[in-house]
Amino acid sequence: MGSETSSLHVLFFPLMAPGHLIPMTDIAKLFSLRQGVHVSIVTTPLNSTRIQSTIDRTTHHSGHHNITIHLLHLPFSEAGLPEGCENLDSVTSPEMTLAFLKAVNLLLHPFEQLVERLHPDCIVSDMFLPWTIDVTEKFNIPRLVFHGTSYFALCVSNSIQRYAPHESVSTETEPFLVPKLPHPIEITKSQMPDFLKSQTPFKETMQKVKEADSRSYGVVMNSFYELEPDYEKHYREEVIGSDRAWHIGPVSLCNRDQIDMAERGKKAFIDANQCLDWLSSRQPGSVLYFCFGSTCDLIGAQLMEIAVALEASGHPFIWVVRNTDRMGSEEEWMPDGFEERMKGKGLIIRGWAPQVVILNHPAVGGFVTHCGWNSVLEGVSAGVPMVTWPMFAEQFYNEKLITRVLRTGVEVGTKVWARSKETRPMMKREVIERAVAQLMGGGDDADERRRRARELGEKAKKAVENGGSSYMDLDRLIEDLKLYSHQGK
Ligand code: UDP
Repeated sequence: MGSETSSLHVLFFPLMAPGHLIPMTDIAKLFSLRQGVHVSIVTTPLNSTRIQSTIDRTTHHSGHHNITIHLLHLPFSEAGLPEGCENLDSVTSPEMTLAFLKAVNLLLHPFEQLVERLHPDCIVSDMFLPWTIDVTEKFNIPRLVFHGTSYFALCVSNSIQRYAPHESVSTETEPFLVPKLPHPIEITKSQMPDFLKSQTPFKETMQKVKEADSRSYGVVMNSFYELEPDYEKHYREEVIGSDRAWHIGPVSLCNRDQIDMAERGKKAFIDANQCLDWLSSRQPGSVLYFCFGSTCDLIGAQLMEIAVALEASGHPFIWVVRNTDRMGSEEEWMPDGFEERMKGKGLIIRGWAPQVVILNHPAVGGFVTHCGWNSVLEGVSAGVPMVTWPMFAEQFYNEKLITRVLRTGVEVGTKVWARSKETRPMMKREVIERAVAQLMGGGDDADERRRRARELGEKAKKAVENGGSSYMDLDRLIEDLKLYSHQGK
């Protein structure tokens, strides 16, 4: 940066999808709060409107106006992408996903020009932007990768790719042991991402990601030591073979004001205070929160099973339902008179929910999650046990961490990895109801699960406090980068 007050300039380039933009914005804010660090965030105009206000509040509170957003423009027509589709959450078909990724890849030259002009000391870029390594190498700038998942998931994925244990089973449903992990973790072929089993367009992308990872300076993890110590060690020793992985999470905990907790990534569809009022009239630990992240869609018939199970469970609930506008009439996904009967018992949010605000309310006693890593960590940080309902990406791996290692969750019992809602097997109402009853009910197992979840929540908060493990790892990372950048000058 060249300014005397900013001895380290770190540039962040997130993938434009909520599960990536939200934590990377939090990471950028965390860096900006450290002495002598200037932060740049590269994104598109629409995405900048989603993060601008939280950035403004951060710089206003800190008094350092040290975060700058730089805009790049997606080449819509060149990529065959509809005008204004700037985030993966507005993509509606596999073809659109490909066009979106093509448009993102076409940002290479504008990004290169920006980097040449700004010449930051370090670039933290998303795993799904592997071509950024060519730019950072060209200008001799260290690149840190952000994967946005757990150490555990990265270790499982590495083991499967290295040892191919799935080749020893003959069916999709026979469990096999993932080799050389600190715990005996079993998984089935049907739960593995498709690109690890067959030639899909995504396989090529993942090969590029892996290759770019191996050329990068290191890795920034949204995790904390006390959550997965064995996997942090395993990742450093067995996966990357160095200590250049820094865990600085849970990064969502940097949002201390209600407005920052409520407006992460998008303006919520419901006023956070309305949610809080609703929650405040419930018993502590009685409410079930049901949300499947920012990109999972379900077919109407599956939503219907969930609605019936929620009603039968007898627990008060907050149920987040996405894309109701794309789903046709409500009769297709909601039982007759459901909302009327659930008045006062259940709150349906048809759109973006203030998730972190909800999870942290004492009335919430359980979280049904698709096991996206941000949601998992937000649940962990809030000290809430979970029903795990993974669907695709690395969500089945995260499920195993929750249910087999941390033992803070109950599996709903999904067995098939499927990206599209049409090919995903339906979970029946009885199965959902059983998992919810196990999670929210009494008995020693449920109490122990709750106790472990609460303890982890406390450890998560300690990790990010001054002197905590994540706080110290961010110190270590910034010192490392300062040293690297000053030696290079
Ligand atoms: N999120 C939210 N409100 C919603 C849905 C999602 O605030 O209604 C946030 C959630 O808190 C998390 C992110 O969006 O930070 C979703 O990331 P995750 O990794 O859980 O799942 P993904 O959407 O990437 O599958």
